[in-house]
Amino acid sequence: MRGGQVVVADRFFASSKTCSVCRHKLDNLPLSARAWTCPACGAIHDRDVNGAVNLKNMAVSSTVSACGEEGETGLDEAGSPLCSCLSRNEQV
Ligand SMILES: [Zn+2]
Repeated sequence: MRGGQVVVADRFFASSKTCSVCRHKLDNLPLSARAWTCPACGAIHDRDVNGAVNLKNMAVSSTVSACGEEGETGLDEAGSPLCSCLSRNEQV
């Protein structure tokens, strides 16, 4: 792992096995599989890229739920955070 931002992932969250498009989760993804096709929506995923997208989505949705503003899971196409609580808590 390279230095920089660390995202603490839920240990039950299989980021490389979960479709970042429709959230379908594979039962099994061989370690040797570099890419896979989602059986639910047909999206083709590079496992590293898909995993990174899922972690990013999860990080954003965690931020949203942390402020109690329930609802949106994930983020919009632009990847902009949906929550305004970060600016409110900045002085801490
Ligand atoms: Zn899918």
